[in-house]
Amino acid sequence: MITIDGSQGEGGGQILRTSLALSAITGTPVRIERIRARRPKPGLQRQHLVAVQAAARVCNGHLDGAELHSREIVLTPQAPCDGTYEFDIGSAGSTTLVLQTVLPILLCADGPSQLRIRGGTHNPMAPPVEFLQESFLPVLHRIGIAATLDLARHGFYPAGGGAISAGIQPWQARVPLQLHERGKAIGRHAEVLLANLPAHVASREAQALKHGLHWSHAEVDEREVAADGPGNAIIARLRHAAITTVITAVGELRKPAEQVAQDCVRQVQRHLQGDAPVCQHLADQLLLPLAIGAGGSFRTVAPSEHTRTNAAIIAAFLGPVVDIAEQGGCAVVSVRGRQAQAG
Ligand code: ATP
Repeated sequence: MITIDGSQGEGGGQILRTSLALSAITGTPVRIERIRARRPKPGLQRQHLVAVQAAARVCNGHLDGAELHSREIVLTPQAPCDGTYEFDIGSAGSTTLVLQTVLPILLCADGPSQLRIRGGTHNPMAPPVEFLQESFLPVLHRIGIAATLDLARHGFYPAGGGAISAGIQPWQARVPLQLHERGKAIGRHAEVLLANLPAHVASREAQALKHGLHWSHAEVDEREVAADGPGNAIIARLRHAAITTVITAVGELRKPAEQVAQDCVRQVQRHLQGDAPVCQHLADQLLLPLAIGAGGSFRTVAPSEHTRTNAAIIAAFLGPVVDIAEQGGCAVVSVRGRQAQAG
């Protein structure tokens, strides 16, 4: 049994997700204590609880302590088990984070899996569906992972009601990653998504984006989407030959449209000032797939607390397989893969 302090480092839900996945993949029981202990609302929130239950289901595991607001759980896993699964978060909690909990486990199952997850699809502080579709999954594809993701319905905070479906094939040929350059810029585009809000919100954001980034009319679109409640998000794509970076700003109640756009503009400008191919979010999300696969290395921006903490959790299960070498404002992250180690 491995015991993980859920309040260490960044102290959030990612500690839980990585621990659950590695427990299921390695067949090692895990006790996670002090879950999100330093957060204003500590313990398991709905999204985390569904992630815990989902991880246990896809490995036929036994759970103790899995209740709303619980601060300690124990997962005793069996083997990863392919199948057709449905998970309903029952709130606007992030569907993509639940997907990222079970994806690594189902990659290690014998057959293909189909998933349907209901909840939020465009949440602040979580990857939106487009990030997984256009940035995360294409990199996973390069290391031999075949997974698809479709957005069935948008879900925004607080109404939720969104849905995604994913198809996951067992991971056959595990290929190491080498991703050190972005390559040539080949395109850029921003989309302003709007649900059940006055049209001027989207047009003000589009205007502020064009002005702030000096992007043309054709490079910024406004799109009305169906959802259960109000919602607004800006999704900007920066396409380079080797990678697409997806930058998001999510609208919030009482946050002026110009401020949402400005938040996006600042993130795009910051990304374009550097030349690392892997953004800070993608960096923390790549560690686990690389560690359970054939490893590899990539260049990223200065490592975030999420990245450092995720590396520490991986180390608790697999040893010190992640090395982060900072160079100026960048870092080269090298991961020794489980398959590479075993070989
Ligand atoms: P908590 O509420 O405790 O913080 P959580 O489960 O909601 O927990 P985190 O543990 O903070 O979330 O993990 C959030 C994940 O979402 C990280 O992998 C982070 O990189 C990713 N993420 C956050 N914002 C974005 C974004 N704009 N684009 C892509 N990924 C994002």
